[in-house]
Amino acid sequence: MTWHVAEDDIRAYATGELAPPLLWSADTHLAGCGECRSRLRAAVDPVALDAGWERLDAELDAPRPGLFERLLVRLGVADHTARLLSATPVLRRSWLLAVTSLLVITVLAVHTVDRPALFLALAPLLPLAGVALSYGPGLDPTFEMAVVAPMHGFRLLMIRTVAVLTTGLAFNGLATLALPGYGLLALTWLLPALALTATGLALTPRLGPVLAPALVAGSWVTLLVVAEQYSRGTLAPFTAYGQSVAAAVAVLAGLLLHRSRDRFDARPLGGFPGEGAE
Ligand SMILES: [Zn+2]
Repeated sequence: MTWHVAEDDIRAYATGELAPPLLWSADTHLAGCGECRSRLRAAVDPVALDAGWERLDAELDAPRPGLFERLLVRLGVADHTARLLSATPVLRRSWLLAVTSLLVITVLAVHTVDRPALFLALAPLLPLAGVALSYGPGLDPTFEMAVVAPMHGFRLLMIRTVAVLTTGLAFNGLATLALPGYGLLALTWLLPALALTATGLALTPRLGPVLAPALVAGSWVTLLVVAEQYSRGTLAPFTAYGQSVAAAVAVLAGLLLHRSRDRFDARPLGGFPGEGAE
């Protein structure tokens, strides 16, 4: 190889001022010529190069607002709230995958055994599981952010719970559509779902983020098994009476939750019982 990039062109290339077609031939040549590459390195101002690397580094590290986050900001949600919401596990693929497979299994089970009651029994557990999953440092990538966020802990909890509940209820609603011919009865999971989620949350400061939802889910299943023994036709929780009880439980748990809001605010320092706080 006898031809090399001219000294002036090397300097112009280094500062980004070399124009095509000279730029193209310089590019091609530099790819195959070590000698010109070392001349280029010498021509590049080391300070400018470092600054460039720093800029690139910062660019790569900066979290890019996702589609959902930008949508939230457009809808008038504050920047930091949008960031916290979009970083919530509910929107992570793994979480959605888990919820979706749970739903598919539920719908399949319902169709296989031809008992929509099974769907009604499982559906209210979904939002509860979703809220439970959005807790704790082990499961929650935004835990650190939640700790340092200059936001009222209880408010943060409510924002995330509403986000999780909305997703869970939307998924449940979609599954309801998979049960045609079941009429309004297919929607009776809604009030039990709210009651279970509110109770699980209200018990969390006392029992911890694992035991509280597990206990609530266990009680729900036990209740259904008992109801199954004593009723013919519609299970007790899905009758008008059962629905009223569910609504009352949801309201009571909501009040209890509101009264214990200070204990949620204390979480980042002390941790929940059973959370393995240091
Ligand atoms: Zn060369």
